[in-house]
Amino acid sequence: MDETPRLAVDRMLMRLARWLRLLGADVIADASLTGAELLRIARTDNRILVTRDKRLRTAADVFFVEGNAIRTQLREAVRRFGLDPRVIALTRCSRCNAVLSMVARELVSRRVPPYVFASHDRFAECRGCGRIYWPETHRARMRAMLDSIAF
Ligand SMILES: [Zn+2]
Repeated sequence: MDETPRLAVDRMLMRLARWLRLLGADVIADASLTGAELLRIARTDNRILVTRDKRLRTAADVFFVEGNAIRTQLREAVRRFGLDPRVIALTRCSRCNAVLSMVARELVSRRVPPYVFASHDRFAECRGCGRIYWPETHRARMRAMLDSIAF
């Protein structure tokens, strides 16, 4: 991907928002915002609005998602934004969109389940919400989902 897509994803598409972050997109999504509020933020912040709201279907700088199923939605968005589903970026937190950074293993010993700590060498931490990721497992789970989609 040449350039990180900057998106604002509406509250009907929160699951898609999390997936797009895991593929490297910069995504704001807040379930408490109405479509109109999110559109205003998106325009101020130079983001494309990703929505299922039919009233916005023809608006400029809006991407209307046709599909109901997450797999269909993901396929549409990957095509539209030129994301590469073979590259699992895992650069951003799926929950809050903050950037992840690698963290020393000993620092996460009390923050992940014991079996996870015992079986992984590499961990990443979200600088925003503090969520810990163990990339091998997260990548493997994502790979399984992405492999089930015909891009
Ligand atoms: Zn986070």
